[in-house]
Amino acid sequence: MQNEFHSRLLFELSKPGRRAAILPACDVPEKSVTSLLPAEALAEEPLPLPELAESDVVRHFTNLSHRNMSVDTHFYPLGSCTMKYNPKRNERLASLDGFAQIHPYQPENTLQGMLSLLAELGDALAEIAGLHAVSLQPAAGAQGEITALMVAAAYFKHQGQTNRTKVLIPDSAHGTNPASATMAGFKAITVKSNKDGSVQLEDLESKLDDQTAVFMITNPSTLGLFEKQIGKICDRVHEAGGLIYLDGANMNAILGVTRPGDFGADMMHYNLHKTFSGPHGGGGPGAGPIAVRDMLAPYLPSPIIVKKEGKFHLEEDRPLSIGRVRNFFGSIGVLLRAYCYIRTHGPEGLRRVSDHAVLNANYLLAKISEVMPVPQGNRCMHEFVASASRYKSKTGVSAMDLAKRLLDYGFHAPTVYFPLIVPEAMMMEPTETESKETLDRFAEVFTEIMQETPEELHDAPLSTKIRRPNEVKAAREPILQWQRKE
Ligand SMILES: *Cc1c(COP(=O)(O)O)cnc(C)c1O
Repeated sequence: MQNEFHSRLLFELSKPGRRAAILPACDVPEKSVTSLLPAEALAEEPLPLPELAESDVVRHFTNLSHRNMSVDTHFYPLGSCTMKYNPKRNERLASLDGFAQIHPYQPENTLQGMLSLLAELGDALAEIAGLHAVSLQPAAGAQGEITALMVAAAYFKHQGQTNRTKVLIPDSAHGTNPASATMAGFKAITVKSNKDGSVQLEDLESKLDDQTAVFMITNPSTLGLFEKQIGKICDRVHEAGGLIYLDGANMNAILGVTRPGDFGADMMHYNLHKTFSGPHGGGGPGAGPIAVRDMLAPYLPSPIIVKKEGKFHLEEDRPLSIGRVRNFFGSIGVLLRAYCYIRTHGPEGLRRVSDHAVLNANYLLAKISEVMPVPQGNRCMHEFVASASRYKSKTGVSAMDLAKRLLDYGFHAPTVYFPLIVPEAMMMEPTETESKETLDRFAEVFTEIMQETPEELHDAPLSTKIRRPNEVKAAREPILQWQRKE
């Protein structure tokens, strides 16, 4: 158990006069500084900042950091999020001075190394996608979605097809899909799924018309299934004059096996922080580059990197572009890690990543399905969705209770209650970076806790500092400042 001392806020630990650093005496007359500023800009009293020794500060933050679970400390089968191991080599390479110390406002001729590397990353992503042009700007998958939809809107507008106002989305989709469509100014329309999790073709066809702009599909889907009718689906949408958007969050399953451009997608996003091992979670930066077919390339955000007379150049003069969606070059740190990951694996290595991600998921599926039904099939891609529904009606114990109990055993919980079409969903994605022993142990613990009493499970977790926080309160009622307790 952690010492209560470390649970308190820095402000509460403050002792007047305590210091983490001793600064040399000021060697310019104070007056010469204060006289440069207008009187009303000067503070009348010292700011009420916490006063602490360095050891207090280090212990405070180090102890806080140990309350989290992370891929470096725990198995983390959070479905759809691809919490694979983040190789330390990528961290070292991305923090080399030559990358970390440059400034985006440096003259272009001093940024040639960085620009060539980003251009190469763009080429690799285009090749893996089977598409033609890439923008590295979007900072997350969700921003990639809205950026690509803005590109589609600009494309249709330029074609004079302003009637195309609808975006069709399967009911198994991630919540960001309808949100992005709405924010990009489209009307989001839901398409039903079949019992086996595939797209209901008749429902899709009945909703396709000359108002359809885009069909957004996640393939493999959030159920961990490859959509077998993908060719037919893309043909139908294209015949109706619409575009296909691929939500590429699950590319971890198909790298080097198939390419979205080959099965009919016109545009897609990557989640570099998922598929290409960027560290993520906890609100850290991500990167959601998009790849598009050639006819959409002129509308991509500006600037793009082009090579002219042997030199890399940021091309701004692109009259059809939707403009900037992110400052500078995007999330450089994440882009660099993805570059290192792609180059160190090479084409065969990336294919092996996906082979092993699928193998691991199927191994875990075989074990978990012995104790809990997996409604959409006995084979999966990189993840699968078990349903605690029957178990809940028998015992009164929910997917949430089981998820919370796993924390007590040192496992991060799977994704729960998503996708929405599976009741009491528990979505598990082991990723390729876990060993057989870890998967065996997880399945064993999962099976064991299902035998525990409902009381034990309703009270879980018992070992964590914070037990069951209200999951939306912090977002709905944010407190962004320390408030002194009177
Ligand atoms: C993670 C995810 C997204 C959103 O990506 P972010 O990078 O979190 O914005 C979209 N769709 C699916 C299927 C995802 O798993």
